[in-house]
Amino acid sequence: MKTNKRITRAYCVELDREMSIVAARREYLSLEPPRERFTFLCTNEECRELKAKITGVNYDVNPQETTQLQTAHFRANPKDEHCSDCEWIEHDSSSDQDKSRPGETEEQAALRKAKRKLDDYIDIFDPSLKEKTRGGEHRGSGGDEIDGDGHGTGVRRTNAEPSDRRRAPTKTTDLERLVESYRTAKAELSKDQFNLLTLQVSGYGVVPLRSYFRHIGAATSLGDNGCVLFGGGTIKRYGEGFSFTFYDTLADQRVSLYVPAKQMSTYRYRRYLKELVIQADEVRYVTLYSLGLLEENPKGKGIDLKVKDLRQIAFVLGPAKSPAEST
Ligand SMILES: [Zn+2]
Repeated sequence: MKTNKRITRAYCVELDREMSIVAARREYLSLEPPRERFTFLCTNEECRELKAKITGVNYDVNPQETTQLQTAHFRANPKDEHCSDCEWIEHDSSSDQDKSRPGETEEQAALRKAKRKLDDYIDIFDPSLKEKTRGGEHRGSGGDEIDGDGHGTGVRRTNAEPSDRRRAPTKTTDLERLVESYRTAKAELSKDQFNLLTLQVSGYGVVPLRSYFRHIGAATSLGDNGCVLFGGGTIKRYGEGFSFTFYDTLADQRVSLYVPAKQMSTYRYRRYLKELVIQADEVRYVTLYSLGLLEENPKGKGIDLKVKDLRQIAFVLGPAKSPAEST
């Protein structure tokens, strides 16, 4: 059979595990060049026996705001056959999918339709850093989880009922994946549809997705704002480390993140992050999304954004500089 759902995870042959496209991009861009593209197969083992290939699109470039390039996503190979209980096959006909289901309110039906338009929709986000680094590496660090029982993508869930799996909400601890999902939803849905989206934040509750993202200028307090803070700014390199300063101020104070070389050196995806930081020179601005804490700078130089772990930041490159802007 052919798949008819958006494919949000695939099995990477080279890394021998399932992953989201965001995790695939981070892994790929962490390889030493010259890089060879990954081979992806369906997440379902039976489909893999049928050699059902999945294509990873645009995972070989850094996350960026551009209209020329589609965001990174997976796509099924149209010629390949999948088994009938593949999780990427929805058996209802498309006309049924547009009708309200029994017991469903109009709003729930509208939300279901909005989600169907998205490549990757996150239902549950866990902002905790529970996957601790072990000896510098952490398994399953892509942060993708299929369900709430703490299994990372490295765990094959062959005993799960396919029907249960199909209904399972998408859960992740991967900030970058949440950011990609948020950006795509904002770009592809109408404002009304976007406003319907909710996010369950582990240990906190269900919030409108839009309210989990707060512009830096609207941060309400020092310390933890309980949400993702974001804003545009510029990057400056200091050897292996770097700093990022937001354009917008908070209560007239400049807000900066400083990542020392030492913090970079222990980060698993340092190569990926470093290339992104270098490429930041070629773009007009960079947007930072972060789960860090805001603290007053001890020397009175504005406000510091502090991150315990570099998994708490995600950068998106802005548009390229025009030739006149490049120096
Ligand atoms: Zn399949």
